[in-house]
Amino acid sequence: MTAERVFDLHTHSNCSDGALSPTALVARAAAAGVSVLALTDHDTLAGLPEAHAAAGSAAISLVPGVELSASWRAQSIHVLGLWIDPACRELQDRVSSQAQRRSDRMRAICTRLGKLGLPGDELLAAVQAQPGVPTRAHLAAALVAGGHVERTDDAFRKYLGKGRPAQVPTDWPPLAAIVAWIRDSGGVPCLAHPVRYALSSGARRGLLSDFAAAGGTALEVVSGANGAHHVEAAAMMAVKFGFTGSIGSDFHDPAHTWNPLGRSLKLPDCVVPVWRAYGL
Ligand code: AMP
Ligand code: MN
Ligand code: MN
Ligand code: MN
Repeated sequence: MTAERVFDLHTHSNCSDGALSPTALVARAAAAGVSVLALTDHDTLAGLPEAHAAAGSAAISLVPGVELSASWRAQSIHVLGLWIDPACRELQDRVSSQAQRRSDRMRAICTRLGKLGLPGDELLAAVQAQPGVPTRAHLAAALVAGGHVERTDDAFRKYLGKGRPAQVPTDWPPLAAIVAWIRDSGGVPCLAHPVRYALSSGARRGLLSDFAAAGGTALEVVSGANGAHHVEAAAMMAVKFGFTGSIGSDFHDPAHTWNPLGRSLKLPDCVVPVWRAYGL
């Protein structure tokens, strides 16, 4: 009997807001029994060469990936690009423009924090001193380290989250453009964590329908620490819209013990796995 393959197609390294280097991430995934791993950092391809090299020695099959931020009806939506071509110049340029948007947004958020009486310049410098393209997770860590909030969650609740005083709406490219970028580079566009967005069920159907119309083909059916009822809901959406299904932990940090690498519920049998087309 052959051992079951373990898939984890959504993870972060310290090239975005993860805690581990790509090498350490691959080693940890191998130790956790993952056989097929996608590195999907936020709006950067920087970790892929190192992850690729590490995967070769760890006997892990590495799927080159990225998690791109998009706008849809004034919401930020995350689309995973799986099996993208990291050598594609056009994709590299497009991803660089996303990273630039992140830097500009971080500056604007820190300016807002300054107006709220916090040391905006210091916080910006603390974010810039951390590795990786800047995310709000970096800033939350800087707010904790500076003693301005107790925990990262408080940083989002008090300052950075939706409707909070330092929230800066970001002008990410439209969902359809992001899907096209991924397809243009040979990748599979996979809508990340579909049950995490704060949307009514009608709006969620609208999102999935627009994603499909734009050329999106996969849905992250098993996502992070989601329970069985969420998996079932996402599986029904995948079947209804004809999406293939993916599995991803959205792993960021070994300290987040509730969300380890490779901990995944099984993809329901009614869903065609996204990896089937790749012979996996
Ligand atoms: P950004 O992509 O810059 O908007 O930053 C969002 C990142 O911050 C996500 O990818 C998560 O890693 C993290 N994050 C978002 N919301 C929270 C929260 N409430 N508590 C802790 N981390 C969060
Ligand atoms: Mn993140
Ligand atoms: Mn995400
Ligand atoms: Mn993610």
